[in-house]
Amino acid sequence: MQSICPRCGQPTVDDLCPQCVQETSQLVSCPDVVDVVVCSICGSQQIKSKWQLPGSLPLEDLAVQAAADSVWLHKELMEPQIDVDLRAKGATRYLARIDARGRFKGKNVGVQCEISVRIKKVACERCSRMAGKYFQSTVQLRGSAERPITDQEIEETKKMARDMANSAYRGGDQLSFIQEMKEVEGGLDIILGSTQLGRRMAKAFVERFGGRLLETAKLVGKKDNRDVFRSTLLVRFPRLRRGDIISFRGALFAVSGFDGKTTQITTLRDGRRSSMSQENSEAAVVLGNKADALSATVISADDDVLEIMDPETFRSALAARPKDLQVSPGEEVNVVRTGDGFIIL
Ligand SMILES: [Zn+2]
Ligand SMILES: [Zn+2]
Repeated sequence: MQSICPRCGQPTVDDLCPQCVQETSQLVSCPDVVDVVVCSICGSQQIKSKWQLPGSLPLEDLAVQAAADSVWLHKELMEPQIDVDLRAKGATRYLARIDARGRFKGKNVGVQCEISVRIKKVACERCSRMAGKYFQSTVQLRGSAERPITDQEIEETKKMARDMANSAYRGGDQLSFIQEMKEVEGGLDIILGSTQLGRRMAKAFVERFGGRLLETAKLVGKKDNRDVFRSTLLVRFPRLRRGDIISFRGALFAVSGFDGKTTQITTLRDGRRSSMSQENSEAAVVLGNKADALSATVISADDDVLEIMDPETFRSALAARPKDLQVSPGEEVNVVRTGDGFIIL
């Protein structure tokens, strides 16, 4: 039904005529000021009170993005497009000229406005905690007199710790950082920003190296009326190491892994897998470790025995031949020297 627009008196089908709807609708609204909060140490940006991962965008790009994101658009503005022209107004100030356009009720429209963008440099939560020597947990890796932790294991655990802390941080855990890693008498201490990370790390070490995990917590104070604890996660390395060659129930085995309290072992002769209780692991005779293997030349071979050349003395020696080993004289095999002669891997 045709009627009269109450605003301008033109004929219309709706309440207001299209011209008046456009003139009375706010299509675009810009704030006067927008703050860009960035960490002066790591460069990460705070968006809606959440710290983001540090990106590689220069400050100008962050300012343009923040200005564009702050523009409010009428939800019926179709195919909206926002152009930002950014000018520096000082070391930490910019002026963003906004040109917003689109289609509104079938007509092309354009609105201009100005937003002043301020750069605020602060230290993010993570960086200030790191600078403040904050920590929640300590993972302690310890060997024993009989079985000290090797340098190689220290390097491997350090790498695992760095990788885990990094990936948890990338996954959004701001407290996932290593405050310090220090080599101490008998092992390594890894001091961490989060207990959760400490627990995950300790578990990964036990899966990799075996052993026992003991967690203790200490009350260190109160924050916001809640008790604050620090935890210590002690990982006591087991007697056996991955790769150890052991003599057990008349056969030779290599330690292939750990699963809870049991040690996984594989026979050297035919690669059959089995497992060994903690008790047996404590008693098994260790003959060497696969990591210390040497390369030796085969002089002659029969079904059960290989004659090889000792790679250090160049004398010939005999060793039992693993069941499925295909080898001919002149070729090389990997051997481990033990008090009882060579073992062929
Ligand atoms: Zn009208
Ligand atoms: Zn930071």
